[in-house]
Amino acid sequence: EAALYGDEAIDLLTEAGDLFSKKYDTQIEDPVIVEIFPEKKDFAVRTFGIPGGDGYMGVCFGKVITANSPKSLLGFQQNWQSLLWHEYCHVITLQKTNNRMPRWLSEGISVYEERLRHSSWGEQMSPEYRDFILGGEMTPVERLSMAFIVPKSPAHIQFAYYQSSLVVEYLVKNFGEECISKILQDLGEGMFINIAIEKHATKLDELQEAFTEFATAKAEAFAAEADLARPNPLEVNPIDKNAIVDWLEDNPNNIWALNTTCANLIEEEKFAEAIPLLERSIRLHPRQRGGNSPYGMLSLAFRELGQADEELAVLENWATIEDSATKLYERLMEIHAERKAWPEVDRLAKRFFSANPLSPISHRFMALTAQQTGNTAATVRPLKRLLLLNPPDPVDLHFRLATALVDRSPDEAKRHVLQALEDAPRFRAAQKLLARLAKPKPEPEPDTPPASEPQPEPKEEAKGR
Ligand SMILES: [Zn+2]
Repeated sequence: EAALYGDEAIDLLTEAGDLFSKKYDTQIEDPVIVEIFPEKKDFAVRTFGIPGGDGYMGVCFGKVITANSPKSLLGFQQNWQSLLWHEYCHVITLQKTNNRMPRWLSEGISVYEERLRHSSWGEQMSPEYRDFILGGEMTPVERLSMAFIVPKSPAHIQFAYYQSSLVVEYLVKNFGEECISKILQDLGEGMFINIAIEKHATKLDELQEAFTEFATAKAEAFAAEADLARPNPLEVNPIDKNAIVDWLEDNPNNIWALNTTCANLIEEEKFAEAIPLLERSIRLHPRQRGGNSPYGMLSLAFRELGQADEELAVLENWATIEDSATKLYERLMEIHAERKAWPEVDRLAKRFFSANPLSPISHRFMALTAQQTGNTAATVRPLKRLLLLNPPDPVDLHFRLATALVDRSPDEAKRHVLQALEDAPRFRAAQKLLARLAKPKPEPEPDTPPASEPQPEPKEEAKGR
């Protein structure tokens, strides 16, 4: 797997290191070790000493991070880049405080930083969290770490991450970004958390009251007009299409009824009829993610009606909140590629890659973008990755790689052209390229080394570290 995303993992961690050490005013002296496991059981044994630990995707032990690999994370709909971002933030906050910080604060900062990095990363407000907040399920800040240790349910653990990040968000909003760094500094010197908060923000009881108000207002504003209840099957039969339509008339803001009616309309190809209802569903509750999202249906309806600009706008809106719907990114790349909007294709290929680097699709679009923009050198990496993914067209890939490498690394180019010819000996263009590569080099310019001298091995590229 490392050859598929290792370079980007290092880039991302380096960026996280630079950003967080500046922001939280701390330097990490020793190397930070990040171990990525393609098998969940290996991750668990390395992390906990025994198999299990199902709820954990990554763990930070000071300067060591263990994490599930993108392949292992696919089944959990967890973005691998946001996971590494989150864990690296722990490295910084744990080092800064000499490991003397409450769990909630450490998780709160990491999740908050995920959200800052991308609108689709980290824990976000959801109907479930809204109900938790409005239903009085928040844990007092003073005891927030306990919510991780003795949670009422797995959902409560997830909510504890979210609530902690909201406390951090509240502190930053009201007392400035530097307040967090100062609290961490004092914790590192052994100060008790309540005193540190009091010193750099406000008294804990005041914080508790103001925070509850802040979180409640956020929850109330979330899909405020939407009716998120799912009706009892006795009230409306979920397989009776007409009954749902009737029920929707009396409950026009019910998201379930809107989406179910629209799914039925789309199935009957009544796209124009579905569009205003889907738009209402999204207006009422904009943060609808997942496979049955109204964004998916709405973009399909516009596509079927040939309204390309509208389809594109819906997909782009969807992309701001969605991480795992790689089909969405694929469609967006297709549209932008048709329009030859290569910077857009490149941006979306990176999003797709961040959701799933093991699929050939993002690598294919990266290679295409590089080729179309005349950046031959940039085609090498995605083409090599495509070769690792059991491609249906290895001959073509080897040939394209050979072409891209012909000036940069003739020996490698020769290997790839030979591999193309191995499977397709009559491939004329490949034969020509081989003949060209086999020709003796022209007389060297005075300053360049003679062609007979051994060429330096293109180690980094060839070995795909
Ligand atoms: Zn964490």
